[in-house]
This record gives sequence, C-alpha cells and structure tokens, in this order.
Amino acid sequence: MAWEVIHKTAAERAAASLTDEMRAEFGWDKARAMLDGFPDGGLNIAYEAVDRHVLSGHGAEEAILWLGKEGAREHLSYADLAARTARFANVLAAHGLEAGDRLYGLAGRVPDLYIAALGTLKAGLIFSPLFSAFGPEPLRTRLEIGEANALVTTEAIYRRKIAAWRDEIPSLKLVLIIGEEAPEGCVALGPAMAAASEEFEAVHTRPEDPALIHFTSGTTGKPKGAVHVHNAVVMHAAAGRYALELKPGTRYWCTADPGWVTGTSFGIISPLVNRVTMIVDEADFELERWYSILQNEKVEVWYTAPTAIRMLMRAGKEAAAPYDLSQLRFMASVGEPLNPEAVVWGKEAFGRPFHDNWWQTETGGIMIANTQAMDVHPGSMGKPLPGIEAGIVERTDEGLRDCGTGEIGELALRPGWPSMMRTYLHEEARYEKCFVGGWYLSGDLAMRDAEGYFWFVGRADDLIKSSGHLIGPFEVESALIEHPSVAEAAVIGLPDETAGEVVKAYVALNPGFEPSEELERDIRGLARKNLGPAVAPREVVFRKSLPKTRSGKIMRRLLKARELGLPEGDISTLESDET
Ligand code: ATP
Ligand code: MG
Repeated sequence: MAWEVIHKTAAERAAASLTDEMRAEFGWDKARAMLDGFPDGGLNIAYEAVDRHVLSGHGAEEAILWLGKEGAREHLSYADLAARTARFANVLAAHGLEAGDRLYGLAGRVPDLYIAALGTLKAGLIFSPLFSAFGPEPLRTRLEIGEANALVTTEAIYRRKIAAWRDEIPSLKLVLIIGEEAPEGCVALGPAMAAASEEFEAVHTRPEDPALIHFTSGTTGKPKGAVHVHNAVVMHAAAGRYALELKPGTRYWCTADPGWVTGTSFGIISPLVNRVTMIVDEADFELERWYSILQNEKVEVWYTAPTAIRMLMRAGKEAAAPYDLSQLRFMASVGEPLNPEAVVWGKEAFGRPFHDNWWQTETGGIMIANTQAMDVHPGSMGKPLPGIEAGIVERTDEGLRDCGTGEIGELALRPGWPSMMRTYLHEEARYEKCFVGGWYLSGDLAMRDAEGYFWFVGRADDLIKSSGHLIGPFEVESALIEHPSVAEAAVIGLPDETAGEVVKAYVALNPGFEPSEELERDIRGLARKNLGPAVAPREVVFRKSLPKTRSGKIMRRLLKARELGLPEGDISTLESDET
C-alpha cells in the first residue's frame, strides 16, 4: 500500500535547523565549531554539555526539569549541574579514581544518575550506563566485561542484585549509594557530595580518549560493548540541532532510559550540549501521564520510540484530543522501524508526523533522519545527515557490490564520523569484521529510492526467503498493523520444504478484540490483499504481547528459536514476554 507523502509547509521549512544550503556546505569543522573545546586541543563531553554554558553567562537557565514518580519536581539550572557534577568528580578523585577508570551507572531516572554520568565524564573517567531493571546476572557480566572500577547505584538495587557477588569483581573499588546512608563496604553519595568542593576543572581529555561504553540491546544475540570517545560530542551537537531541532531554551523530552544509548546520547549529552531544558520523567509509560507531561510541561520537541507510539495508537486519537499540545513542534522516533501507519497517525492525532530516524549503538548518534525541512515519506527512515555517507551494498565473494536504486542490500556507512564506535570491548576481531571495502556494515537491510530516501527492510538475520522472494519482516508487519484489530506484529521465516521459508506472524491485539479463527482469517486476508499471496503470512498467532528487549525492540530471534526448538540464546535484555 502506498502512503501519501506528507509535504512540509513553507513555514516548517523556514523554521528548520537544517536547510538545503547548510547540507551543501556542511563539513565536520562546522559541527566542531558548535563546541568550545580547550585551547590545548582537549575536548570533554561534560564541559561542552555543562560548564561552558555557565562560563558564557547562561548558568541560570534551566537544564533539567525532573518529574518524580510520586509528583515531586526538581529544577536544576546549568549552574546547579556544574556545581553538582564538580562535587561528584571530587568524590571520585577523593577515592583515588583517575582518568581512564570505568564507572557504571545503575539507577532509575533520578537526578543523581544524571549528575553521576556527567561528573564521571568531567573527571575524565569512562561512563557506562546499565538498565536498572537488569537482573543480577546481566549486571555481573557487564561489570566483568567492562572491568568496572566504580558503580553508582541505589541501596535497594545493591542489596538485591549486587551484594552477593560484589567481592568477586576485584576491579570494583568503589560503590556509591545514592542517598544518605550506605550498606557496609559502600559509600553514601549524599554526605560525600556535601563534603566535596564545588570547584573542579573538567579534565582536558583528548578527543580520542574513551568516554562511554554502551552495551547493544542484545536483539540479535549477546550484547556487545561499544566504546565511544569524547569526540562523539561533535556528532551529538550536530545531530541534536539538525535532526531533533534542539535550540537553546527548547523544552525537550526524550523518553528513552539512559540505560541504553539513546537515553545517554540524546537523553543527556546532545540536549545539554545544545543548551535546552530537558524534561526527565522518573515513571514508566502511562497514557494519561504522558499526555499531561506533553501539555503541562509545554514540550516542544519529543523524541520517543515505536513501541510507545503504538501504545498511544492503541488508546486511539480520542485519548489525545482533550490535551492542548499546540506548543509541540517536532516529534521523532528511533529504535525500531516506525510503521507508516504510525507516522500518519501522528499527523492526525498531533497535527504533525513522527519523524523516523535510524542509528545504532555502534554509530553513537543519529545517521539517517527525516528532518524538519524534508517532506516525509511514511515508512522511510529519511536521508543521511550531512557529513554521513550511506550506501546499500551486497557482500559477494569478490567483495562488496553497490546496489542500485530500489534494490535491497545491506545498509553501509562510510567510516569517519565523530561518534563511530572505536572498538567492541574485548572483541577486536568482531569489530574489524564490521569494516569491509571501505564501508562500515550495519547488519541491517535497506533500500534507497530515486529521491535518496532510505527504507528499512529488516535485520540481515531476519530476512525471509520464500519461493524466490526476499521478504523483509518490516513490510509484512506494517501491513498487518493496518488491520484495525492489530496493535503490534512480529514476523519470522520458518523452514519449508517447497518454499524454502514461509512467513509466520505473531500479533498483539488492540483493546476490544478477541482472538478467533475468523479474525485470523480476516487479518491474513488483508495481508494477502496488500502484499500478495507469496509474501503474506501463512499463519497468524495471537499473543498478549510480543517478546521485547528493555529498549523496546521486538526479539524476533526468540520467537524463531522457540518455534524451531532451538536454545533461546542470550535473553539478558528480555523484558515483556506474555504468550
Ligand atoms: P544487538 O546489536 O545486540 O543485536 P540492537 O541492534 O537491537 O542489538 P541497538 O544498537 O540498540 O541494538 O539497536 C540498533 C538497531 O535498531 C539497528 O541496527 C536497527 O536494526 C534498529 N533500528 C534503530 N532505529 C531504527 C529505525 N528507525 N528503523 C528501523 N530499525 C531501527
Ligand atoms: Mg545491533
């Protein structure tokens, strides 16, 4: 089914941060010029995100508005952030931690977690975020792989998940506990911060010094630890401005948890570097709460994910109608393919479409995006940001082959952008294998159309080959959710003697619909009509929810492994999973 292009108005184009002229004139030096750096050539993410704004007279501006689960509110100005991150850096120094050491953050979305992340970078240490909802085993593995030297967490998490094995990680010297008290062997952060000085000059890290270790979502297998350097902040600055329309004073809400890369790169660094006011909500998704935040906190730019958007869609446009969202000027989505239906729904419910953008933990920042100046082709990820060269290639025995317009191939990027990972921790060989023939290969399949828009097809592992057709799960899933009953869909290929593979679908239903044979037939019928019989699923199975990672990605490999009776593999990041 073809979706109508959403044309941008002249006013929208005029207001855009990225014009065609800027695209044409772009160079990384221009992005670098958005930052200060140190006269000696040093570059420090925390300095760029916090301290320089204070030094240039903007200390009183609001950096973070924190909304507690139970209704508490806390306002942090840039000056507050500078002072508290300095105290945190001094606490680290007082405990003998030094530049290059590794600190892990493990807490819910509370102010101290944000202070810890920035204070760690300020002190020149490497910061690695973890999901507070991880169980003991995934936490232990990640601390081990990353040879953690310090950990910031809460007493509850420590007692439940860490205490039992803490001594078995010899590198772990310091455990800081958020709050006023700490169990034996740990240090309470509250009193330590109170006793520390508010003065700390950010360490003059070199642009190539490691700054962040981000573990991938584990959608396709065991999570990898991608290492990023301070120079990544150049990308964070540019992508925030061009792809997310961040400007000084913008009221911005990124719903991603800092436990994964979006919540750190675009939930801490990029917004602060661009001097916005960012809203941080401690609570998890809740329909009315989200709409109230959008309205009451006057959110102007909103960065969220397909799974959340599909939850909003499930409740219907009517649920959004009572709220005044007129100040919202830009909405973007990342993490998973955004079904065209969801893009268009955004336009109907909010008066503007969701702007899909694509990137990975490895790329450290947004690579391909629908920007404000561009017409939106629902279902497309958009075009590469300036400075990013993307290609579609096929691996052959002779090396890489460039795919033509409209041809499906692997999405590749020309190495050299600032936030590219510098290695996979302890997996150098695997890292090297990502680079072939002058390209970084993403492992995702995509297609480029004649206008230069990129279209996501699926993960290379998830591609289905049926009776000579190459079938991308995303296309089939998007067709399925066009059925009024279907809220979410996951599609896999299963081995079949005649066809090679056949398509099987799993769907979760919208409220008001019950599984039945008739409904299954009806959904398959619609898919056949829209996709043709060769591509439409043979079988549709109803589930309460789909298995997802904590970062909200459907784990198709798990559905497939179960179907084939194979081992489930690494499921450390699995969140919801109700059959
Ligand atoms: P792992 O690498 O451990 O299997 P992961 O790839 O899910 O996990 P992330 O780096 O968090 O880990 O996710 C990046 C992936 O998410 C991309 O490679 C892509 O498959 C998917 N993705 C992100 N944004 C989009 C998008 N806009 N459209 C389609 N897919 C997307
Ligand atoms: Mg990946």
